[in-house]
Amino acid sequence: MRNIAILCSGGDVSGMNPALKHFVEYALQKGLTPFFIYDGYEGLIDNNIKKVSYCDVAGIITRGGTKIGSARSKRFTQKQYRIIAKQNLDALGIEMLVVLGGDGSFRGLDIFYKETSIKFCGIPATIDNDINGTDYSLGVDTALNIIKTSIDAIRDTASSFKRAFVIETMGRNCGYLALVSHLTSGSELCLIPEREYDLKSYEESFKEQIKNGRRYFIAIVSEGIKQDSSEIAEWFEERIGMESRVSILGHVQRGGNPTIYDRLMAYKFVTHAVNGLLQGKDESVICYTKSGFEFKSIEEVTSKTKELDTELLSYLDNQ
Ligand code: ADP
Repeated sequence: MRNIAILCSGGDVSGMNPALKHFVEYALQKGLTPFFIYDGYEGLIDNNIKKVSYCDVAGIITRGGTKIGSARSKRFTQKQYRIIAKQNLDALGIEMLVVLGGDGSFRGLDIFYKETSIKFCGIPATIDNDINGTDYSLGVDTALNIIKTSIDAIRDTASSFKRAFVIETMGRNCGYLALVSHLTSGSELCLIPEREYDLKSYEESFKEQIKNGRRYFIAIVSEGIKQDSSEIAEWFEERIGMESRVSILGHVQRGGNPTIYDRLMAYKFVTHAVNGLLQGKDESVICYTKSGFEFKSIEEVTSKTKELDTELLSYLDNQ
């Protein structure tokens, strides 16, 4: 029997648990012995590794987060600890590794591969959707649905009280979550790091809209823009003349019941990752693009900053 292990590294996302469930079931179906590595690269160093079977993944498909934990590991950036990590894998006869994580995790994995030749496949997982080379990363759809529910709820109170709401989404330097949420929730303003903006240019139109009966504004801003959300709220009060509130959605965006899309993508990503490893793809990331699933090198995925989809940006530019 050949041994294969999975771990989650970096920020957790909803969709990791469905991926773990399918990983165990698919590995067993393929005649492999599946292992869980707990708490990311920390567990790899501490030998927190366990052989698993069907009962270990029973009932987890509906849950956000990850049953096996995720972590950032300072120690893994040091060679002495990566040597220990490899010794732990060797002692258990684990020759293949699936890693759910972001580009930081893949960078670490690349160094680990160069030192040890451990075969691996990375699965992009981050709600920010900022990994180069893949149009989709696991967890994005669930995060968007959580944001949608939050905006819909805020709209109710905004309209009742004649208020402007500035809703801040995650995304680090990538405005994907904010932009898609803006296009799909009919908000009045969207500010993202990819586009310069001048609040002055909205003043006349917004004041005119109030005169014509508008009772509220929803502004969706990405956490990566240069101003604080509170400054945008102040602008609404001082320049537009409407009472305003800030709502920073924060970590609620990372949790929640995984959507159908994320469950299906988890299933597909894992299937491709395991198949790729069995077919001799020794050091790749499984990406999803307009042409379907493709294996890409770590270099390709980590060397460039992802650019936001030009079609989505054009919708914003033409508003
Ligand atoms: P993400 O995978 O979400 O981008 P991080 O950037 O925090 O998250 O990376 C996750 C972990 O990957 C780090 O805590 C570290 O253990 C490992 N890692 C990242 N870069 C390197 C590196 N250059 N060398 C070794 N390990 C790294």
